[in-house]
Amino acid sequence: MWADLEPVGRVGSGGYRRFAWTDEDATLREWFAGECTRRRLDLTEDRVGNQWAWWWDGPGTVDDAVAAGHRGVAVGSHLDSVPDGGAFDGPLGVVSALAAVDELRAAGVRPTVPVAVVSFVDEEGARFGIACAGSRVLTGQLAPGRALALTDADGTTYADALRAAGRDPELLGPDEEALRRVGAFVELHVEQGRALVDLDAPVAVASDIWPHGRWRLDFPGEANHAGTTRLADRRDAMIGYAELVLSARSAAASRGCVATVGKVRVTPGGVNAIPSLVTGWLDARGADEAQVLALVEEVTEGARRHGAEVVRESWTPTTVLDAGLADRLRAVLDRDAAISVPVLGTGAGHDAGILATAGVPSAMLFVRNPTGVSHSPAEHAERDDCHAGVQALADCLRDLVGRGPG
Ligand SMILES: [Zn+2]
Repeated sequence: MWADLEPVGRVGSGGYRRFAWTDEDATLREWFAGECTRRRLDLTEDRVGNQWAWWWDGPGTVDDAVAAGHRGVAVGSHLDSVPDGGAFDGPLGVVSALAAVDELRAAGVRPTVPVAVVSFVDEEGARFGIACAGSRVLTGQLAPGRALALTDADGTTYADALRAAGRDPELLGPDEEALRRVGAFVELHVEQGRALVDLDAPVAVASDIWPHGRWRLDFPGEANHAGTTRLADRRDAMIGYAELVLSARSAAASRGCVATVGKVRVTPGGVNAIPSLVTGWLDARGADEAQVLALVEEVTEGARRHGAEVVRESWTPTTVLDAGLADRLRAVLDRDAAISVPVLGTGAGHDAGILATAGVPSAMLFVRNPTGVSHSPAEHAERDDCHAGVQALADCLRDLVGRGPG
């Protein structure tokens, strides 16, 4: 499977450009469909274009089983990438899900509830700017009208991109029927940090997705000549902004969080002009919601002393993945492991978080990333760790579907 995926959307940097509803995306969707056909999985698409491949030997159809109270268990992830992203973010979860199904079938397991391998569309939001668009529209967390009006860097709307891919934009919308089939979701993902390197473990179970938010800070100043204006007479917007960058770093360090000022806009933006307005964007995240909010309070209070106006652009509280499901997966994995399987929170968003928010019990498994680098061509996972991930996913899936439902 890796050999087939390797050239799709590869660019000069060695990374990947696999954006939603492009030719590369179409190739990946065809690849997924081909893998499912080869396995005699029953491929369906929801109204958003997420691909669900069902393994169910009856009695009756998948919907018969669901109607009888046996909702399915889904495993999978996404195939799209960020600009110049790595090979593993997304595809590792899809490939591992297919491999786990192979393993269970080879072992003669007959599932007691339907099993789906899912490939979510547009997880990264690289083209249209909204992450997890596929699962957000599916679950009603992103209105179809808003999604269809999004534009890419070339000015192409989401609606036109769908049309160009041969799809009907009118069909885009929440899909309760598709969602009802899913009683649980397990997403395996490459770790996007270095915790497992330090813990010397190949696989972890996720606990939650960290609370995270974005704030915009406008620092006021007065434009004037950089040569003739005495220092004492200046109102330089950059001074307050500079303090923001440094205080965000130190406040994050002292509170065990992370904070980033990754975007700045300077007005008028001339080398020889004192800035009249500097706008900076603060991104803050951490395991502890109270600490993240305290960090932001501390940093913005300092900014207000420089006259800054502070606007919260977004805030997502802790997304708690299903604790019961995580405990169950941990018990399964602990059974065979020499050491207890680590439990990690994550600062990155995932489709599993969107489904969890929609009320689908969801869990995640992370596979060790030797450098911790992600969203970069340098992203990596060792072959043995990938195999450990497949084994872990297969063991978990077997536990969830290999005996009576519930
Ligand atoms: Zn991902």
